[in-house]
Amino acid sequence: MNRTLMARVSAGVLLLTGCWIAYTQNQSKQPPPLTLNKVKDDLYEIEGDGGNVAVYVTGEGVILVDDKFDQDHENIIGKVKSVTDQPVKYVLSTHHHADHSGGNAKFLPTAEIISTANARANIVGHKQSNAPPGVAPARVVFTEECSVFLGDKEVRSRHFGRGHTNGDAIVYFPALRTIHTGDLMAGVTPLIDYPGGGSVVEWTKTLDQALKLDFDTVIPGHGAVTNKAGLLAYRNNVEKLRNRAQAMIREGKSQEEVGKVMIAEFNWQATGLQMQWSLPGLMTELK
Ligand SMILES: [Zn+2]
Repeated sequence: MNRTLMARVSAGVLLLTGCWIAYTQNQSKQPPPLTLNKVKDDLYEIEGDGGNVAVYVTGEGVILVDDKFDQDHENIIGKVKSVTDQPVKYVLSTHHHADHSGGNAKFLPTAEIISTANARANIVGHKQSNAPPGVAPARVVFTEECSVFLGDKEVRSRHFGRGHTNGDAIVYFPALRTIHTGDLMAGVTPLIDYPGGGSVVEWTKTLDQALKLDFDTVIPGHGAVTNKAGLLAYRNNVEKLRNRAQAMIREGKSQEEVGKVMIAEFNWQATGLQMQWSLPGLMTELK
């Protein structure tokens, strides 16, 4: 082996070693860092990794909306501690998915978790609903409305109907004129979880009910905090998607053809969950 070749081989080995170190470091599963933002007085939201968490501080304890993945528990507690010494007393859960309810098991020994009856049923019957095993169900459930009163403050959880799933709650902070929508508003395009009871037909009706509440600020399930106009724009995009899909389905277009248009015009990802959870159900619901 001549000197040049030897140098090249050594460089190659070094490069491979470097890749291996990067690979093994990625394998060591540090949960991603989270960011806490102030929304209004005593109300914060935590972004990063799973769904957005709302943190409402009262003089008698903290009320959370959602608790991300199981792996985010310590980081969530750290963020809460950065704004208050009060313990978390309640977690109002927006729906059963693991990126919103994955931390339930770790909160249950010290906090009450409240969800819709359908969200609980989706966790208990996870084989039908895509809820991964290991997500712990709430001990307290409601069907239409439930309020928590703590430290002279009120938080109201409402179920207006189907949309992202059949068990979505919208959480309302009346004194702050703010709502947390769960995944009824999330990212740029809707994910309709048909196995979890979702419906693109009901979705806009559900948001129309929510839009009647008196609020100016919106914490979405994923993405940046927005306002009532932002939620209305999202609702109108759900309607546009539904009308576009329905027209094609009624013209007799195939699932594959509808899927291509959803990717091109509505930001669906070719390998994303929409293709598995939303597209087949869309074909049936809009027939
Ligand atoms: Zn979800």
